[in-house]
Amino acid sequence: MTGLGVAVVIEDDADMRNLLRAVLERTGFSVFTADTGLEGVDLVRHRLPRVVTVDVGLPDIDGFEVLRRIRPFSAARTVVLTGRTDEADIDEALHCGADEYVTKPFHPRELRTRIEAMLAAGTAGPVHHAV
Ligand code: CA
Repeated sequence: MTGLGVAVVIEDDADMRNLLRAVLERTGFSVFTADTGLEGVDLVRHRLPRVVTVDVGLPDIDGFEVLRRIRPFSAARTVVLTGRTDEADIDEALHCGADEYVTKPFHPRELRTRIEAMLAAGTAGPVHHAV
């Protein structure tokens, strides 16, 4: 099942990266992964994903900076993953162009549901959940 196109996962934690890959593949994406922010920006540039998930805490540039860098050339729907539940972080994610944020730990089914809802919303505008 790869009918939904490409998804890029930018995540430095190997277990989390594998989990995200599994969830996205099960949802129907072809998945490419990066473990640093800069590598992730590069992947987005070359793979033209429909969906990008990005962790906030990365070894080089943070997830917010990744969003700022991909936004000018990518129309991908973006999901920020953060271990922090700080409201300021969530605000910053949305200001940087994130369509969704998910706080860790999360249930795989919840992530999948959110991504499907985001895609169903099409390009009508960002899907923001009340905090
Ligand atoms: Ca991390």
